[in-house]
Amino acid sequence: MLEDAKKQLYAALPYANIDPESVLRLENPEKTIEVSIPMRHDDGTLKMYRAFRCHYDSTLGPAKGGIRYHPHVDEDHVQALAFWMTFKCAAVKVPFGGAKGGVSIDPKKLSNRELERISKAYISAFADFIGPEEDIPAPDLGTNERVMGWMYSEYRRIKGGNPRAIITGKPVPLGGIVGRNSATGYGGYYVLETLLNKYLDKIKIPGNKDELRVAIQGFGNVGYWFAEKCHKNRIKVVAITNQYGGVYDPKGLDIPKCKLNIDNTQEREFGQGTKISNDEFFELDVDILAPAAIENVITQGNAKKIKAPLIFELANGPTTPEADEMLQNKIVVPDILANAGGVVVSYFEWLQNRHAEEWDADKVNQELNRKMKYATEKMMDMYMNHKTSMRTATYILALKRIAAANECLGNRGFFQR
Ligand code: NAD
Repeated sequence: MLEDAKKQLYAALPYANIDPESVLRLENPEKTIEVSIPMRHDDGTLKMYRAFRCHYDSTLGPAKGGIRYHPHVDEDHVQALAFWMTFKCAAVKVPFGGAKGGVSIDPKKLSNRELERISKAYISAFADFIGPEEDIPAPDLGTNERVMGWMYSEYRRIKGGNPRAIITGKPVPLGGIVGRNSATGYGGYYVLETLLNKYLDKIKIPGNKDELRVAIQGFGNVGYWFAEKCHKNRIKVVAITNQYGGVYDPKGLDIPKCKLNIDNTQEREFGQGTKISNDEFFELDVDILAPAAIENVITQGNAKKIKAPLIFELANGPTTPEADEMLQNKIVVPDILANAGGVVVSYFEWLQNRHAEEWDADKVNQELNRKMKYATEKMMDMYMNHKTSMRTATYILALKRIAAANECLGNRGFFQR
């Protein structure tokens, strides 16, 4: 995974004009720790679980990244995810480096007590590796705000005081921020809105917002809030899918009703439109195709069947490198920009905690909009200057920021000047 991820860095290098020493640093993760965590299950048995934390790069600030509970978690997985966090934070100009952590475990097989035990054990193992100025964890796949609450409680027990800025994605009563749940979907919407308002001639889609047709794969935290914001702004969402399949209606779906039906049917029924499969989803005649579910869904197999001129990557890594090559004639808005709203609002939570403040929903949204708009404009400057893909343009932007800071820390280029 990490070697694949680095291909995106290498694609941007010829345009970024940065010092070779910065490249050398970015090719290698700073620190990765692996520990074995013993956990006693409810039936009395003791099992060992592999757990990881990686600081990929901390040039721009404390390393930031979620904690994933999934059976596939291993060193390579965590390092690749930390690599993406490094470039995501740099692209949207939040003062963080990139980190990621995880436990190789299936959280669906754990009771609540077991989940609490493994979460507290994780923090106990990494308490000296993380910190509000060193490394700030957050939720990721398989973890959530309740898990963050347990982790915060354990960190507090070990270190004392009220170090709220140690973890983001906490429950609001513990210093969490309002609007974190909708942040990634809304952040994606603000990127899209900026492209529609300022760069319509560059993105190959119809000029009239009312004519736009959006299809979204995934109706979870990211997909739902993106759909909801499109719907509120009168952009037609014509298809949605989830792990059980989906629905299509060329006239547009009623998103609040879909949400109600999905919540009432254990995610099985959207309650309107014509049923479609996840394979059919990629072939739909739409303007914007937004994968917002899982990794590697756009492959060599389906890339050539995609009709949509614009692919909006809300999930992390939804396009395989081979498929990415095949999509050169399309506009692909890359994941590290499209789904960066989550880390931006996590940054606001960290700021809120450090200043002992409480931000309201309006402030969170306004600031999120401002940051995402700015990042999109900067990416578009790179895109137009270098005539590359938007993915490469976003990496150029991030690389230049990291390299500029790295140089000021005193590398060879700095002293030669
Ligand atoms: P989630 O678990 O809330 O929702 C995932 C959705 O995808 C669900 O509707 C599920 O049914 C669907 N899904 C799962 N497997 C599928 C399949 N094989 N085919 C079609 N649909 C499938 O997850 P989320 O938080 O919405 O995250 C979605 C993606 O966005 C992930 O790639 C995640 O890494 C990325 N992401 C999330 C955030 C965040 O703040 N939550 C931030 C950045 C990136």
